[in-house]
Amino acid sequence: MDASKYYKIEGKDFTRTHRTCPKCGPSFFLANHYDRWTCGKCGYTIFKRKGPAKGKTVRRAPRKRTKSM
Ligand SMILES: [Zn+2]
Repeated sequence: MDASKYYKIEGKDFTRTHRTCPKCGPSFFLANHYDRWTCGKCGYTIFKRKGPAKGKTVRRAPRKRTKSM
């Protein structure tokens, strides 16, 4: 499998167009799906984040129960 097709030549430098698998190494690329990246070798999957991720942190502080006795 030729890995060169996964690189896009831009001038003197190249940019990675695909993510690499952290398990298999930098020579294994993940397949780009609409909502995730998957490795064809080990099945490693990275889900892409969708929607507004920040600004919506609803965290309720647990209330301590005090016994009134
Ligand atoms: Zn892999």
